[in-house]
Amino acid sequence: MAKPAQDTSVHEKLGLASAEALTLHLPLRYEDETRLTRLRDARPGLPVLVEGIVTQAEVVFRPRRQLLANLTETGSDAPFHLRMLNFYPSQQASLKPGVRLRLFGEVRPGFFGDEMVHPRWRVVGANAPLPDRLTPIYPTVAGLSQNRIQKAVAATLANADLSDTLPESLRVRLALPAFDEAVTRLHAPTPEDSLTALESREHPAWRRIKFDELLTQQLSLRLHTRERNRQIAPVLASDSGLADRFAARLPFPLTSAQRRVLQEIRADLGKSHPMHRLLQGDVGSGKTCVAALAALSAVGSGHQAAVMAPTEILAEQLYLKFREWLEPLGIRVVWLAAALKGKVKKEAMAEISSGQAAVAVGTHALFQDEVAFQSLALAIVDEQHRFGVEQRLALRGKGVDGNILPHLLMMSATPIPRSLAMSYFADLDVSVIDELPPGRTPVATRTVGNAKRDQVIARLKDYCLDGAQAYWVCPLIEESEKIDLKAAMDAHAELVAALPGLRIGLAHGRMKSSEKGAVMTAFKAGELDILVATTVIEVGVDVPNASLMVIEHAERMGLAQLHQLRGRVGRGSRESTCLLLYYDPLSDTARQRLHIIREHTDGFVIAREDLRLRGPGEFLGARQSGLPMLRFADLETDQDLLEQARNAADHLLRHDPEAVRRHLQRWLPRGSDYLHA
Ligand code: ADP
Ligand code: MG
Repeated sequence: MAKPAQDTSVHEKLGLASAEALTLHLPLRYEDETRLTRLRDARPGLPVLVEGIVTQAEVVFRPRRQLLANLTETGSDAPFHLRMLNFYPSQQASLKPGVRLRLFGEVRPGFFGDEMVHPRWRVVGANAPLPDRLTPIYPTVAGLSQNRIQKAVAATLANADLSDTLPESLRVRLALPAFDEAVTRLHAPTPEDSLTALESREHPAWRRIKFDELLTQQLSLRLHTRERNRQIAPVLASDSGLADRFAARLPFPLTSAQRRVLQEIRADLGKSHPMHRLLQGDVGSGKTCVAALAALSAVGSGHQAAVMAPTEILAEQLYLKFREWLEPLGIRVVWLAAALKGKVKKEAMAEISSGQAAVAVGTHALFQDEVAFQSLALAIVDEQHRFGVEQRLALRGKGVDGNILPHLLMMSATPIPRSLAMSYFADLDVSVIDELPPGRTPVATRTVGNAKRDQVIARLKDYCLDGAQAYWVCPLIEESEKIDLKAAMDAHAELVAALPGLRIGLAHGRMKSSEKGAVMTAFKAGELDILVATTVIEVGVDVPNASLMVIEHAERMGLAQLHQLRGRVGRGSRESTCLLLYYDPLSDTARQRLHIIREHTDGFVIAREDLRLRGPGEFLGARQSGLPMLRFADLETDQDLLEQARNAADHLLRHDPEAVRRHLQRWLPRGSDYLHA
């Protein structure tokens, strides 16, 4: 038998690298056309294959133009109808009385009897054989029919090299089917294969494919790490004396967790290949201080450090901290953000490129092409999960020179779920600050409906008359900054009217930083009793005497944000309270979020619950571009395969480089950019 001809444009239309790649273009689902169903046995809701002979076909207007054909199944039964609202003239022409049709679709009772609307159908001869395989339905694009894909796939399968990339012994040990068996099966399952197992992807054939995919990911990550270990980074000393001078000036000793992670970071910085480390620690655990000490290693070794945060507010807080800490040591810290204009920006960039500024703090503006560092040895990224891969990669171009890369320290208060840690983040080293500085008092959290607003305000009064200070927070949602600003101003006016004896200030993101700074300073100095603020206080504000926080519209805020905000109280010796003021009606998720934040204070627990509510997709959102996402495997349900793929990757890299090469060749035929990321 002649091999079927290749339809070369199919893979191009599908955006695949080659016709070979069609082998891994796997069906989304299947249709069972291996059995004919009698019309009277067909139930609505289940697609079936039926046959009938056309008795009449015509284009009618009912009220839309449509093609209607009457068919009879046995010749003596009531006719059923084929109805098409869109059709080609060739289809109309083929519906001549007397021809036999095979139709696949759902039978529904219609006004004129049973009917099928837009089934798949074709003309067949009497006693045409039924297919002995389930019909695959592929992901497709506009203008590309299932039929063409099916043919192209069949042609590819007939020609392609489907030999196994896994050594037989490994495959047998993991009880996985052979690759050729798995793909052939998935493209053309037999009626005996359970549709449920196929569609839930639990069929052994699917497990093989998912394993292969996870193995590809694991291999890529390992190779990536290897490659990184071959790259060169400046060796940084931790004993320049700067750190001691810094520590001597700090008003507190480092916690033992801070000392431990600092040691881990310093050990990396002392090596000649780039660090790639994630520093995790709950809100308020003191990551900034560790980052500053890491920066001192770069500065003390005659290089520069860059500190980047995802928003201007976050970055500004970091800038203020770094300046406060480092300038007394004679270290120049500059600020660089997109909002900087003209001369100020030029000067900042000049200081960065001349090396006069040893530390630069800012937003992603730091890593724009036009910014050149004299000798960047360490890049610190705060809230790393809010950055995209490209932004982090842009750092790489900013090293000491083209061949020497900076070390990378990422910080986050959001723990990585285990499945992600084992896959997408497997190339990171992780340090965890698992201890809060001493002296923090737990915050009691209550949820209060806005109907009880007056009681909340009365409570606020008692609190402040008792000598405590309070925050009143209005949410700031970036897209509607103006509305939120108004909300904060209204709340301020309301409180001023209701609490005449108290001193009430207002801070929001639209104020000039000098004005904002003045309000914050007054609050810190105890010259204000209440600070009404948009979420500008989310970071950086440190007022131990503030022990009450009211958060308006708490139902609108994310868990991470609520947790960050709440972290602003409970810093002194006084018992602290956080009141979450919500407006009805609450959505299900909002209710769950409020429950979680009320019941838990551990940021890691909250983050895990948050991920459970939102799913890992959101977590990965920022990383999506530039990383090959998993098409088939699911990190949540395929943990066991992930675990096996990890071990297999180790084994193959050590013992079978040829298998690794062939496996990556099959699964990443274009090569992988992220091998070099
Ligand atoms: P985060 O980890 O959330 O970035 P920060 O670095 O902003 O936390 O630290 C939170 C607060 O704790 C800051 O006011 C900081 O000065 C203070 N802090 C940091 N380390 C210690 C410590 N070891 N002892 C006491 N306070 C500390
Ligand atoms: Mg921080």
